[in-house]
Amino acid sequence: MSWFRNLAKISTLKSLQSSSSSPAAKLHNHHTPPNYLFNSLSHFTSNAFASASAAPKPTPYAGLEPTREGAEKPRVVVLGTGWAACRLMKGIDTNMYDVVCVSPRNHMVFTPLLASTCVGTLEFRSVAEPIGRIQPAISKEPGSYFFLAKCTALDTNQHVVHCETVTDGPSSVAPWKFNISYDKLVIALGAEASTFGIHGVKEHAIFLREVYHAQEIRRRLLLNLMLSDVPGVSEGEKKRLLHCVVVGGGPTGVEFSGELSDFIMRDVRQRYAHVKDYIHVTLIEANEILSSFDDRLRRYATNQLTKSGVRLVRGTVKDVEPQQLILNDGTEVPYGLLVWSTGVGPSPLVKSLDLPKSPGGRIGIDEWLRVPSVEDVFAIGDCSGFLETTGKPVLPALAQVAERQGKYLASLLNKIGKAGGGRANSAKDMEFGDPFVYKHLGSMATIGSYKALVDLRQSKEGRGISLAGFVSWFVWRSAYLTRVISWRNRLYVAINWATTFVFGRDISRI
Ligand SMILES: Cc1cc2nc3c(=O)[nH]c(=O)nc-3n(C[C@H](O)[C@H](O)[C@H](O)COP(=O)(O)OP(=O)(O)OC[C@H]3O[C@@H](n4cnc5c(N)ncnc54)[C@H](O)[C@@H]3O)c2cc1C
Repeated sequence: MSWFRNLAKISTLKSLQSSSSSPAAKLHNHHTPPNYLFNSLSHFTSNAFASASAAPKPTPYAGLEPTREGAEKPRVVVLGTGWAACRLMKGIDTNMYDVVCVSPRNHMVFTPLLASTCVGTLEFRSVAEPIGRIQPAISKEPGSYFFLAKCTALDTNQHVVHCETVTDGPSSVAPWKFNISYDKLVIALGAEASTFGIHGVKEHAIFLREVYHAQEIRRRLLLNLMLSDVPGVSEGEKKRLLHCVVVGGGPTGVEFSGELSDFIMRDVRQRYAHVKDYIHVTLIEANEILSSFDDRLRRYATNQLTKSGVRLVRGTVKDVEPQQLILNDGTEVPYGLLVWSTGVGPSPLVKSLDLPKSPGGRIGIDEWLRVPSVEDVFAIGDCSGFLETTGKPVLPALAQVAERQGKYLASLLNKIGKAGGGRANSAKDMEFGDPFVYKHLGSMATIGSYKALVDLRQSKEGRGISLAGFVSWFVWRSAYLTRVISWRNRLYVAINWATTFVFGRDISRI
């Protein structure tokens, strides 16, 4: 009920405002709680509370109104709590700006370690970083908020974001619509898993992008292991239930397959000995696995995965049914668990926004990460791409791109604020200085059995160090342990790795 909390916070703000302007109002508010509530909610303009307001405004939904110079700080509205948004919020100067973040999740997901949570190598909490820890001002400052909501539309002429709360379905509360006025808007909406319009993917496959996806995968895997042990289950059904199919041979699909094979080799063999010979992993890829990696590393990964029992199938999925998928050549592949990881594309919201687009349909940006046709709007991370006119390529959908864009934009906004351009429409003629430049640092992927790939070339054609094996695995773990956002989660991750090593993975189905 985050929006309830936020309303309470807004109430406090309003009461402070009225107390500073009118001692009588302060007295009134202290002694008459019902009016206090209406007074405080009137900070949000709303027809719902019109009867309690002397001069109701014609706004159809409640909202945060434009900031007032002299009384409030300029407001930066951030859409999303992913890599890009969180790095931006961490770096923004909250003495200069109020930050209002809108996202359907109140935490950032440390995606490089998400695959490890699906089989219990890591716990879910170890990869989720609450937004209030990343930017404490959001929980403390009177003008800064986090709203558990999704953006539904933008009005860039009026500098307004339209939002709708996210609830746990009809059994909680009905969705609530509201608007937020911004001085600066940062769109960091990420991307969505691509399904290429293949029938049945959305209904039957599980994506691997959010913590709840990893939870679903873990529950399904453990359920299938237990169901297959029940008396009366046919041989064919046991094989189907315990056939884990991964579609997509990019780093995520490969890392997940590696985690699964480790789980099978160590934990299933010991704790599900009755069904250990039935469980298999198949990785389906239309082209080569890990196509962005060095040839030598690709061959190494192929051999290693095959040795660990992962079946690599080259094929294209044509149709997905509840218990089997069909390949282009007509092959039927029964499955008990289907994980879909074939890359990402723009979300329906990004597609629907009336903003310029880069090749591939992302929000088009210039070298300063601005959306050039509108004032005060920036886009970063997977939802954005350089416009063709910049002559720069669209950057890959990677955390390292999103994070560095977030960092760059935080310092750009701080610079703009310092120069007096923080308010809406006040930075029109400002010089922004150095543009954003991206330098690729290389790629890493684990492949299971304490092995990983580290490719430090800056591009596919470039030269540089590439390593594979145990040393790379150690580099991979050390690098990500130091990248985990907070000391709390770093400790969780280290403890999870140690307990998994000593006691095996947790197989309780909670
Ligand atoms: C399993 C996995 C492993 C990965 N491993 C690596 C890796 O090892 N290295 C690497 O560089 N990259 C990796 N990536 C890619 C990396 O995670 C993404 O490139 C990165 O998350 C992009 O950051 P972002 O901020 O643009 O988007 P995201 O991190 O996807 O965040 C988007 C945010 O927008 C929010 N949002 C969505 N719709 C709305 C809406 N309507 N209103 C408001 N908010 C909304 C979402 O809830 C989310 O908070 C991995 C990705 C996955 C899924």
